[in-house]
Amino acid sequence: MQRSSSWVPPGTDLDRPNAARIYDYFLGGSHNFPADREMARQAISLWPDLPMIMRSNRAFLRRAVQYLAGEGITRFLDLGSGIPTFGAVHEIAQEVHPETRVVYVDMDPVAVAHSRLLVRDDPHVEVVEADVRDPYGLLAQAPVAELLHPGEPVAVLLVAVLHFVSDEADPPGIVAALRDALPPGSALALSHASLEGRPDQAGAHQELYARTRTPLTMRSRAQITAYFDGFELVDPGVVYLPEWRPETPDAVGPHPERMTGLAGVGRRP
Ligand code: SAM
Repeated sequence: MQRSSSWVPPGTDLDRPNAARIYDYFLGGSHNFPADREMARQAISLWPDLPMIMRSNRAFLRRAVQYLAGEGITRFLDLGSGIPTFGAVHEIAQEVHPETRVVYVDMDPVAVAHSRLLVRDDPHVEVVEADVRDPYGLLAQAPVAELLHPGEPVAVLLVAVLHFVSDEADPPGIVAALRDALPPGSALALSHASLEGRPDQAGAHQELYARTRTPLTMRSRAQITAYFDGFELVDPGVVYLPEWRPETPDAVGPHPERMTGLAGVGRRP
C-alpha cells in the first residue's frame, strides 16, 4: 500500500494508475505515485512520443485560452481540468482579464484536492468534483450554474477528456447538453486522441489505459469534428494539436500528425 501525502484525500486508491496523475507525470509534475509512474513508463516504452504529445496538448490549451481571452471571454468552465501542473487556465486567462472567473471540474479526487489548494486564495476560481458523463448533474452544481447564469459568454474546455468517455456514455450527447446550456457567443475548445496520425499505436495504448478507471477511446477525425455541431469552427478548424494557431510557423514542426491529437475551437452563434 502506497503511503499517502498530506494533499491526497483519504480513501484515494494510490495503487491503481490514474489518468490525471499519469498525465501529470508526462508533463513533469510531482503529483503522481509509483503505480502511475510505472504505467507511464510502460506507455513511453511502447510509444516514445507520448511526453511530447502531452506537452503539445497542454500548449494547445494555453493558445486556445489566450485566444478566447483575447476575444473578450471572461468565464471559463474547464471540464476534466486535471492537476494544474504548468500554466493553469485561470493564470493564463487572468493575464488578459484579471477578473476572469474559472470553474475547474474533474472527477478525480486527487486532481480536485490539489486544484483546491492551488486556487484557495483566488475568489474568482472554484473547483467542483463532478463527472462529465452526467452533464445535467454537472450543470446543476452551484458554481457551474452561477457561472452560466447571468448570460455572459462562457468558454467550455473539453481538452483531452472526451477520449476517457466511452461510446456507451454518448459523448456527442454530452457535448450537445452542454452546448444547449450556453449563452450565445459562448465557445467550445476541445482536443481528443485520434485514431489518425499513428494508427499503429492505437491498439496497444488503449489496452494500457484499460487498466485505469478511465479507459481510452481514440476516435476518428469525423467523430471529433462532429462534437462541434451547433458551433461555428474558428480558423483553422479541427487540426493536429500543433497546427492550431501556432505562435510561429516553425512551431508546427515537420510532422504534426505525430502528435496524433486533434483540436479545435468553435463559437456558438
Ligand atoms: N484538461 C487538462 C489538460 O488537457 O491539460 C487535463 C487532461 S487529463 C489528460 C484528463 C483529465 O480528465 C483527468 O484529470 C481525468 O481525471 C479527467 N476525467 C476523465 N474522465 C472524466 C469524467 N468522466 N468526468 C470528469 N473528469 C474526467
